[in-house]
Amino acid sequence: MVRQKFVCGNWKMYKTAPEAAALVKELAAGLGEVAGKVQVAVAPPFTALHAAVQAAAGSAIEVAAQDVHWEVQGAFTGEISAAMLAEAGCRHGIVGHSERRQLFGETDETVRKKVGALLSAGIRPIVCVGETLAEREAGRTLAVVDRQVRQGLAGIPVEPLAAITVAYEPVWAIGTGKTATAAQAQEVHAAIRRILRELAGAAGDAIRIQYGGSVKPENAQELMSQPDVDGALVGGASLKAKDFLAILKGALR
Ligand code: PEP
Repeated sequence: MVRQKFVCGNWKMYKTAPEAAALVKELAAGLGEVAGKVQVAVAPPFTALHAAVQAAAGSAIEVAAQDVHWEVQGAFTGEISAAMLAEAGCRHGIVGHSERRQLFGETDETVRKKVGALLSAGIRPIVCVGETLAEREAGRTLAVVDRQVRQGLAGIPVEPLAAITVAYEPVWAIGTGKTATAAQAQEVHAAIRRILRELAGAAGDAIRIQYGGSVKPENAQELMSQPDVDGALVGGASLKAKDFLAILKGALR
């Protein structure tokens, strides 16, 4: 099955609102043949979402949030609801990023609740999974990813499940400059594909699985040419228009 590639830039805690608008405009101006062929999103910090959405208007660039709270509203100081993100113009929402799992107590259970909240608000979740170096060295990669996918998506009916993207991000490759080889990525992506088929039947074939972890212009094309690598979640290299555009061009081939 041919799946349109989907590449999302995760800007983490970088970029003010004016900087976000400027980067979105630079990206939009440079998309060229990528527009319409590759699905493109950027995930700025909450305070820059509105500026990014405005700057992206009329272009092929979509805006994603980096996190969400699962409740609809209430006394949850510091949190942002899915409806608020939808109102700000977000089309996608990242959940379960390893930085949230490692630094802010994200669990498979909170991932599951956040996926449900996003889907209820009409936002497409990007669900991050991936093993630590210790887990890989202990031969537990597939078991960890299996648990994260099944528990993070538990109870989601098949139809909305088709709207999600899974991002396989080995923790040891995030921000370290170490990238999984194309073969290592494909092995895990194929395992995730099998789980998605179990959970969603034929619709599991249409779900995109992004690779994330030190994706850069030099390795993007090889990674994304693997049969089950349907795009990328890009951190550091998404902060510079030239690098992100080169990665997007790598998704074309
Ligand atoms: C990420 O934060 O999702 C990521 C993959 O970061 P980097 O590309 O910088 O490794």
